[in-house]
Amino acid sequence: MNKICKTCDGRCCKTFDYVAIDPDDKNEVKRLTKLGADITFDGDECVMNVQGGCQFLKKNRCSIYRKRPRACKKWRCEKLWNKDYDKKPKFLSRNEF
Ligand code: SF4
Ligand code: SF4
Repeated sequence: MNKICKTCDGRCCKTFDYVAIDPDDKNEVKRLTKLGADITFDGDECVMNVQGGCQFLKKNRCSIYRKRPRACKKWRCEKLWNKDYDKKPKFLSRNEF
């Protein structure tokens, strides 16, 4: 986990309504479904529903960190892009993401 994320309360995991899943990545869909994720297919799109906060966020940490979706692994918030590791992240509002 990035140093900056360790000082944050998992705000990104509480902010979004869904995490995009590649519908062709059958392994990911299967793995997440097995873990109890709420996966929805809509035409060519596939999402993991995380409205109201991701169900896998426990004590402000991802409880499926090693098995989290690819989109979560790739996610970097603005503070991380700036590599501003010395400052605590300000709690971004939904519109700032
Ligand atoms: S990516 Fe940003 S909002 Fe998400 S846990 Fe890390 S610092 Fe917090
Ligand atoms: S799977 Fe983990 S990293 Fe992804 S939104 Fe949920 S708690 Fe956050």
